[in-house]
Amino acid sequence: MTRHPTYVILMGPPASGKGTQADRLQEGLALPHVASGDLFRYNLKNQTPLGLEAKGYMDRGELVPDGLTIAMVLDRLARPDCANGALLDGFPRTLAQAEALDQALADQGYGINLVLDVQVPRDELISRVTGRRLCRACGASYHIKFAPPAVDGVCDKCGGELYQRDDDTEATAGKRLEVYDAQTKPLIEYYRNKGLLAGIDGNQPIDAVTAALKEAIEQNL
Ligand code: AMP
Repeated sequence: MTRHPTYVILMGPPASGKGTQADRLQEGLALPHVASGDLFRYNLKNQTPLGLEAKGYMDRGELVPDGLTIAMVLDRLARPDCANGALLDGFPRTLAQAEALDQALADQGYGINLVLDVQVPRDELISRVTGRRLCRACGASYHIKFAPPAVDGVCDKCGGELYQRDDDTEATAGKRLEVYDAQTKPLIEYYRNKGLLAGIDGNQPIDAVTAALKEAIEQNL
């Protein structure tokens, strides 16, 4: 029997912990973690035309235009490792992206199975953003206070160098939160109306958030 592909979306504002949680969930779900921000950063690191075009938007804390973003993510979802579906993180972020994703999946007879909305108060988000550090080599995410590496500045997983994202400053984070409220928050209603939404309290210790997400997945998938 062939299994229907499973598509789970992790929603939530910048620094709500989506990436950290997706890494913890992907194994149990047996789905690849597809993060649009990681795909843009990969393109930027490799100086591709897409990466160079996206850079200005990313540095300003704005969204990369829908056309580029949708094409990039749909291309990723068409790759063989996504044959059983994907755990999406950071996409969709606009109504146009959500509709394009619905359409692309519907064209294949599929659809979104579950949307997990990770909720964190705004003050908390700003302090999380400015303390975040990423590994240059493998992309693993740390926080200098809440999830520090064993050795300062060094990735636990691969020994790579940790760095702070250019857009993880207080000013850019404020802009990204504004963009989230204006363009992405409306998607919560969009998915609630489709009966796909599960809200998760993201303002708890990392393990507790993982447990809440796993419970929602067990109940709804
Ligand atoms: P993230 O790593 O998810 O915080 O994304 C970093 C930046 O990449 C965002 O601030 C945007 O500039 C861009 N980006 C990531 N995902 C999207 C998306 N779905 N739509 C538009 N821009 C995106």
